[in-house]
Amino acid sequence: MSNTLPSFPETLAGVYIDGQWLPGGPVLEVVNPATEEHLASIGSGDAVSVDAAVQAASRAFPTWARSAGAERGAVLRRIAEGVRQRRDTLIQLQSLNNGKPLFEATIDVDDVIGTFEYYAGLAEALDAQQDRPVELPVEEFAARLRREPCGVVGLIVPWNFPMVTTAWKLAPALSAGCTVVLKPSEVTPLAELELVRIIAEAGLPTGVLNVVCGTGLAVGAPLSSHPKLAKVSFTGSNAVGVQVMQRAAETVKGVSLELGGKSSLLVLEAADLDLAVELACGGAFFNAGQMCSATSRVLVAEPLAADFLARVKARAEATQVGDPFSEGVEMGALVNQAQYQRVRGHIERGIAAGARLVCGGERPAELARGFFLQPTVFTDVPKESALWNEEIFGPVLCVRSFATEAEAIELANDSEFGLVASVVSGDLEAAERVANALQAGMVWINSPQVIFPQTAWGGYKQSSIGRELGPWGLASFQELKHVVRAV
Ligand code: NAD
Repeated sequence: MSNTLPSFPETLAGVYIDGQWLPGGPVLEVVNPATEEHLASIGSGDAVSVDAAVQAASRAFPTWARSAGAERGAVLRRIAEGVRQRRDTLIQLQSLNNGKPLFEATIDVDDVIGTFEYYAGLAEALDAQQDRPVELPVEEFAARLRREPCGVVGLIVPWNFPMVTTAWKLAPALSAGCTVVLKPSEVTPLAELELVRIIAEAGLPTGVLNVVCGTGLAVGAPLSSHPKLAKVSFTGSNAVGVQVMQRAAETVKGVSLELGGKSSLLVLEAADLDLAVELACGGAFFNAGQMCSATSRVLVAEPLAADFLARVKARAEATQVGDPFSEGVEMGALVNQAQYQRVRGHIERGIAAGARLVCGGERPAELARGFFLQPTVFTDVPKESALWNEEIFGPVLCVRSFATEAEAIELANDSEFGLVASVVSGDLEAAERVANALQAGMVWINSPQVIFPQTAWGGYKQSSIGRELGPWGLASFQELKHVVRAV
């Protein structure tokens, strides 16, 4: 990979409507979280640009919706190929704007390629499935089933996995035949805008994808209430998810929500402790803990607890924190000042609530600039404290021991969220039994947090409404139509 980092001397257009890049209005300043330096200025949109984008998507809808699945699949394959060709640039932009190490940004970009390829395959398969006869109990009627795109959709994404959260929505929406207005996060638009340029070059018909960068209030709010949208698909915080749902309710449009989490890793008595420590630290400190699926609680069998805590402390303290572009760095910066302060606030309130800080909690002494935080481990965390219950979205892990399997399951399920969970055990029967009892949309056994386009993403309770990825992700952008004829 070249060492020349991209630079942006001029204000970048942040609005893309009907195949045209428009300068936009208010300028968003984008900051490099690892240096706190200004990175780029982006011209952003407002309610007027949102309306123009929705109108463009509405004009493009009939033709794109009627196109053959094979045709849409071919475009998605060209997008995947375009991303592959610009892989290095996208990786650099993602690290630069997000603060995540290059190896993490590489995983993101490869996920984007895999997601577009997967939904290309589903689009191609749609043609053969269309108009399938439906078996009826009588001979006087014949029925067939059609799956049609639901319409123009609004996609609103966060800053923690910018291109990935976009691909998980955009690829199935395009595969289904929907046309789109995308709102990237105002914090991390750089890789997203490059992705849009790649998509435009891949030959997506004009108006099928429109993009409006901007703040939540200026762009996200009018998008979620726009009456011409069939659906809003949102990934972000619960507080904003509720507002999106309320706005969407006014015109009874569909919503998909991917929200927060407070996920547990359960270390059962027969666990391999080295593996448990690696999985706990990986789950808690990947992306500097800014993951909806972050391992936030570790529940460890009592006989293992003291040894586990000592080993987790050693691993956390040995984690290389620093410049995302440096070789060997394992954890980068938090995304911005606001997020840094939010996480520091959680740590301080946790200590005030009586939790015992085992390690971390501060800025690493050798890193004077950038939003860096040490990997942080707590134990003796009161069950009623915010630290134990709220999503922290930073590199903070809380460890607690349990006496019985039933207690471990109860502790893990005792949350308003239910996104993911992990189980570590050499006793596979016990691990599978516990996995079945956990209220989570994804459970990993003796495994890091691997995600495949084929497996559904989303959770129980307040973590989600609906599921992304897999055929479920495609179905969320489709309407079902039965045509019944008297014979
Ligand atoms: P956020 O809710 O602040 O912002 C998400 C998006 O919504 C951004 O594009 C933002 O500009 C926009 N927005 C803000 N206010 C809005 C409004 N009033 N109306 C419409 N849109 C508005 O979230 P964030 O800080 O960017 O991301 C962190 C959150 O995202 C965490 O809570 C995390 O758990 C969640 N997340 C969930 C998943 C998942 O798959 N479940 C994945 C990634 C992130």
